[in-house]
Amino acid sequence: MTAELLGALRAPVHRFVLGEAEITSILDGAIPMGISPPFLLNENDDEISAIARAANLPTDRLENNFVPVLVNTGDELVLIDTGCGHYRRANGAGFLRDRLSEAGYTPEDVDIVALTHVHPDHIGGLWEDGALAFPNAQLMIGRREFDAWKSGDDIPSQREQNREMFLEIVAPLEDRFRFLEDGDRIATGITAEAAFGHSAGHMMFRVESASKQALIWADVANHYVFSVEHPDSMVGFDDDKDMAIATRNRVLSETADSGVLVVGHHMPFPAVGFVERVGERYRWVPATYQLRL
Ligand SMILES: [Zn+2]
Repeated sequence: MTAELLGALRAPVHRFVLGEAEITSILDGAIPMGISPPFLLNENDDEISAIARAANLPTDRLENNFVPVLVNTGDELVLIDTGCGHYRRANGAGFLRDRLSEAGYTPEDVDIVALTHVHPDHIGGLWEDGALAFPNAQLMIGRREFDAWKSGDDIPSQREQNREMFLEIVAPLEDRFRFLEDGDRIATGITAEAAFGHSAGHMMFRVESASKQALIWADVANHYVFSVEHPDSMVGFDDDKDMAIATRNRVLSETADSGVLVVGHHMPFPAVGFVERVGERYRWVPATYQLRL
């Protein structure tokens, strides 16, 4: 008897050990979308097709995946971003909370929820069925990010719906947030770092444990080829495009020079890798067994 065809299968959780800490990537989901916009806004159609073909990728579509990260420092369980929540569940994303159990955690176990920024794929999972999705967690967010979205002053017009979402699900929690500045320590070995541009107050988080280090760069670069290999090309997702390009170049240069391990919210799942310098450019190199030996 021939076994039944079961379709594609991929594990939605992945964990590695970093010093005395553990970092778990959880696939909140993946959604297909067009390439340009949002990416490669400086390139024409022929150039975009050539870039995609050279990377063995389709020339007309990409898969955007969403990867919130849990850091167990040994002292605290810290969730960085909350995924899309119910907003995109019909479209294939928003499964972070369901998949926690596959990683061995419950929503109640999360001690800290730190938001890198307030775009929908990072805040959508804050609430579930009208209650806080991680009920015991201390909430944290960059001061500049919260203030910008609250005032609305530097929010581009295409983010109007996003601002409504912020006002509806984040702003009412103001009293529960701890507000972060560049360099603030948020938990054992975890530091917040300013990486403004993708959004007004976008933050990254650096994890250090027993002389090992990882940089959770959130949305500094949003595609492993179209963004990492072409950091100067404007991206529709970036709210301040020039500042985002400057930040992307700064962080890519630093990560390539230092060889630090990177975890990126939109890098291909499990979203763990390194940045390599190739001439004047950069390349995303997925991590393999160096995390286990
Ligand atoms: Zn994002």
